[in-house]
Amino acid sequence: MTIDRTTYEQALAQLTGPGSPFELSTGEVRGVAMRNFALRPRSLRELVERAAQHGDAEFLVQGEQRLTYAQFARRVWGTAAELRGQGLRHGDRIAILAYNSVDYVVTVFACASVGAIVVALNGWWTQDELDYALRDSGSRMLIVEDRLLARVRDLIGKPGTLEKVFVTGASAPPPGLLAGGELIRESDEMPRDPIDEDDPFVILYTSGTTGRPKGCITTHRGTITQVMGILLHGMVSTLLGEPSPLPTDGSRPTSLMTAPLFHVAGIHTGVSTAMSAGAKVVLSEGRFDPEQVLRLIEKERVSTWSAIPTMLHRVVQSPRLRDYDLSSLVRISFGGAPTAPETMMRARQVFHIAPSLTNGYGMTETHGIIMLAGGGDLEENPTSVGRPVAFFDVKLVDSAGREVADGELGEVLLRGPTVTPGYWNRPEATAEAIRDGWLHTGDIAFRDANGLYTLVDRIKDMIIRGGENVYCVEIENCLMEHPDIDEAAIVGVPDVELGEIVKAVVQPRPGATLGAEQVRAHVAARLAAFKVPDIVAFCDEPLPRNAAGKIVKSQLRAG
Ligand code: AMP
Repeated sequence: MTIDRTTYEQALAQLTGPGSPFELSTGEVRGVAMRNFALRPRSLRELVERAAQHGDAEFLVQGEQRLTYAQFARRVWGTAAELRGQGLRHGDRIAILAYNSVDYVVTVFACASVGAIVVALNGWWTQDELDYALRDSGSRMLIVEDRLLARVRDLIGKPGTLEKVFVTGASAPPPGLLAGGELIRESDEMPRDPIDEDDPFVILYTSGTTGRPKGCITTHRGTITQVMGILLHGMVSTLLGEPSPLPTDGSRPTSLMTAPLFHVAGIHTGVSTAMSAGAKVVLSEGRFDPEQVLRLIEKERVSTWSAIPTMLHRVVQSPRLRDYDLSSLVRISFGGAPTAPETMMRARQVFHIAPSLTNGYGMTETHGIIMLAGGGDLEENPTSVGRPVAFFDVKLVDSAGREVADGELGEVLLRGPTVTPGYWNRPEATAEAIRDGWLHTGDIAFRDANGLYTLVDRIKDMIIRGGENVYCVEIENCLMEHPDIDEAAIVGVPDVELGEIVKAVVQPRPGATLGAEQVRAHVAARLAAFKVPDIVAFCDEPLPRNAAGKIVKSQLRAG
């Protein structure tokens, strides 16, 4: 059942009052008064220090490698000291180009412990894009995994800011480069370098589907606050009757990480949240493989899995689902892009024990989660992204900047301590995204009477056809309900008469025979005539996606 607004707000007030571990108080963030958690750790180093109290409990697992909380903290302190010895100082940028690994996580927190800033490079980027990010960030050091070295080989030694390059992995570093493995050390002594809450932690180049990448700055404060927001949301939901995200047999929570560490779903919402909760984190290996997910759930008794929607889609379609014991799984969360209600329904059907599902709406610019929908809220409102985490001020505004009433569409504007201080070296882009203290998300949503938000589209994803607004996601969801369609995307194509027309790009299920007329008839039976695709193109391959799982629509428009 959907929870009404008053019940939700009462439960929230109960958990955030004075004296509660999640007490919310108002304080200044970069000169502006905002709500924040009174009892938060003041740096990520402090978060690691607190987490070390979990001692011999396992924290990071990948393949044969297993690290307890105590070992993790010792490695973070030791690696921090080694990096300092290499000349890394507070405020310096150090780039990492690597696949997910235990050492990657250790290194990120080691850098943060001396106040240095990690530039988490996108592992799918080309040489030119990497060159751009290294220069833009002014990185002094680079840690690169040997399997990815070829991508930056020609950049090393070129004039720029890069002074030291460390190569990790099995092979010895080529002449002139340093051995990354030597950086990982152990120590019982925590570094003491001063760290401010608003110091940058990690720079993430946003996966915007158009334009030049922007280095979005995440901070110690923003990361910690969003982690506490997620944990608080879980407690409020449980108080209101949603199934608990904890394992039913009383064992330690175990989360499976399949998202790359170079997105907020990695270090920020994934690893940092698990660390705060004393959970075990299982890192998958290599390219995404649905069967590996199933295998790891069984082997490591995974209790929660955070998926990019495409991953969830692939897992629920897997013919091997029945071959594994998935009974430990109590929750699947997903987000970063819309998840078709169809996929959620299938997830509820195909697992032996239906896990609870959570849809998370997030952005790099907010260190991750903005809103969460779960339990009865999501079951009854499958396209909703739920309610904002506690500390956000949210408003929906029309194109003139006026707040809209419940039920009406408006752009989501956000204010809160997890909004990025801005983009690295890009004051104009920052000023455009954050105006009068409000982050303009570019997302169009409405809020219902229960306080639940539903994203309807992104501003640039809206097609205006003959003066009528067409919201792509609505048609995409409709197409995904067709039994013969595996994937679908809607784009606008310029048209002399109508301004824009609607084009559908459809990947049929293998073996299906599907014609354009059938696709059009399917939509016409469900949606207004102006939403029926004017053009239907078919492709045999999965639609082009960027590393965050978003469809690269610019490629579809042209094709
Ligand atoms: P990024 O910063 O690359 O993660 O992109 C953030 C954007 O992804 C948001 O502004 C939304 O447009 C979209 N997005 C994120 N989460 C969701 C979700 N749960 N449902 C639909 N769209 C989402």
